[in-house]
Amino acid sequence: MPVDPVRSIVIVGGGTAGWMTAATLAHYLHGLGCRIRLVESAEIGTVGVGESTIPPIISHLAALGIDENDLVRKIQATFKLSIEFKDWTRPGHSYLHPFGPTGFQRNGVDFTAYWLKCREAGVAPSLEAHSITAVAARQARFMRPVDLANSPLQHITYALHLDATRLAAYLRGYAETRGVARTEGKVRAVALRSEDGFIESIALESGERIEADLYIDCTGFRGVLIEDALETGYEDWTRWLPCDRAMAVGCERTGPLSSHTQALARDVGWQWRIPLQHRVGNGYVYNSQLVSDDGAREILLSGLEGKPLREPLALRFTTGRRRLSWNKNCVAIGLSAGFLEPLESTGIHLIQRGAFLLVSLFPDRSFRQADIDAYNRRMAFEYERVRDFLVAHYSQTHREGEFWRYCREMELPASLKERLELFRSYGRIIRDPAELFSEQSWFFILTGQDVRPAGYDPRAEDIPAGEMRQFLERIAEVVGRCAATMPRHEDFIAQNCAAPAL
Ligand SMILES: Cc1cc2nc3c(=O)[nH]c(=O)nc-3n(C[C@H](O)[C@H](O)[C@H](O)COP(=O)(O)OP(=O)(O)OC[C@H]3O[C@@H](n4cnc5c(N)ncnc54)[C@H](O)[C@@H]3O)c2cc1C
Repeated sequence: MPVDPVRSIVIVGGGTAGWMTAATLAHYLHGLGCRIRLVESAEIGTVGVGESTIPPIISHLAALGIDENDLVRKIQATFKLSIEFKDWTRPGHSYLHPFGPTGFQRNGVDFTAYWLKCREAGVAPSLEAHSITAVAARQARFMRPVDLANSPLQHITYALHLDATRLAAYLRGYAETRGVARTEGKVRAVALRSEDGFIESIALESGERIEADLYIDCTGFRGVLIEDALETGYEDWTRWLPCDRAMAVGCERTGPLSSHTQALARDVGWQWRIPLQHRVGNGYVYNSQLVSDDGAREILLSGLEGKPLREPLALRFTTGRRRLSWNKNCVAIGLSAGFLEPLESTGIHLIQRGAFLLVSLFPDRSFRQADIDAYNRRMAFEYERVRDFLVAHYSQTHREGEFWRYCREMELPASLKERLELFRSYGRIIRDPAELFSEQSWFFILTGQDVRPAGYDPRAEDIPAGEMRQFLERIAEVVGRCAATMPRHEDFIAQNCAAPAL
């Protein structure tokens, strides 16, 4: 059958999702002669949060040919090696979820098995001591990986902390230079084709009517196309992720520039701290039945390190995902496709995944159902696995209080229950290779949250604990020495990518 190419795409929404999708499509589809138009409404605005990312953003930017130092300079970004979870396990406790590989494999057995064995024998060095990104993050250091065989410095894996509004503006410049046309306007109505319910056109408040073959809904929580027009439906995950509001505010930076995000547990929910070059982003994520907005505002403001820069912004949300990310000739990307709270900084990553997957499964005008189904299965899997990872943080704690008791006692998703049972047995993590978070990410989180396996992988019996302890200590020592050679994060930025003074 001859291909009937898509000739026009309309993206509705100009937040991070809209402009990141526009930039990605403009880059990958430039040879197809397909017109891309983005409609956004300054009057509605964007959520304006979303400041902490995970490592795949680095390869995404590189794939688009974006110069990382130029981007960092222009969007006041900083570098991120890890997330610190403070007070999550119990008040006073702190652990890191560092990026990148840690330790070694020996005869196919992961280092974590040997570490568990040494811990059981009471001779294990701290888990963090084996991770270059954890040690560097604790010391507020940063540099990019270097190509040095056998050195932990080659394993440095990083992401960015960024100013969301500036990122969208940067990507807008990128997309417009590559031919994306922007229209300022508010979508007032969506017309559906009578024969199959596909979107036929959108009407703007100005009276203009726009037709396209493919529509991308990046309208945020509203879901103007995917929900208001197509009534796709939403799967609500509040029973597992019970926070439904956030209060966000920037404040002045007071101390040295850290190279990790902080997630600080609170009596009801948690608070983020994200260091940028010109300010620190803060937000309190909470359950509105257990704390009022005024109460949340006070908790947020009393937990700031520096002077607030404006009044806190309140946001409401329902965690979950759209039943179908792609419905007929409309693909939802960003908050319109679902929302998982920012505990592991996955929002922007899910936008990237949505945009890349759309490129991989790019349709023609016949919109074959097999491609649509493949896209929806893949995105559902991505959302569900990230959800399980987040729920693991909430449910495995020793914290007291109504909120945390609920999280501890709630019925878990079956997929997470199975994973926890397996971990509680021999400390093993078996995952689908396509999952976002690695075995080691799971290990750091579950160990950090004090989930104790009954034993360790029997294959780790191939070496006595005392001998293994010496080996682990040597690794920790090398990691420590290498981290000490890394520049301080703020010096690295000053030398490579400092933003001009505001
Ligand atoms: C509290 C909170 C914290 C977060 N923290 C992180 C984080 O640390 N890391 C991370 O990766 N992600 C985070 N996220 C997620 C991240 O913010 C979003 O994924 C990202 O900003 C994308 O938003 P969006 O573009 O989908 O929606 P929005 O920013 O809401 O943009 C919607 C766009 O649609 C337009 N629009 C809406 N209706 C219409 C209409 N009728 N006509 C025309 N235009 C319209 C708006 O004008 C706007 O341009 C966080 C989200 C929240 C809520």
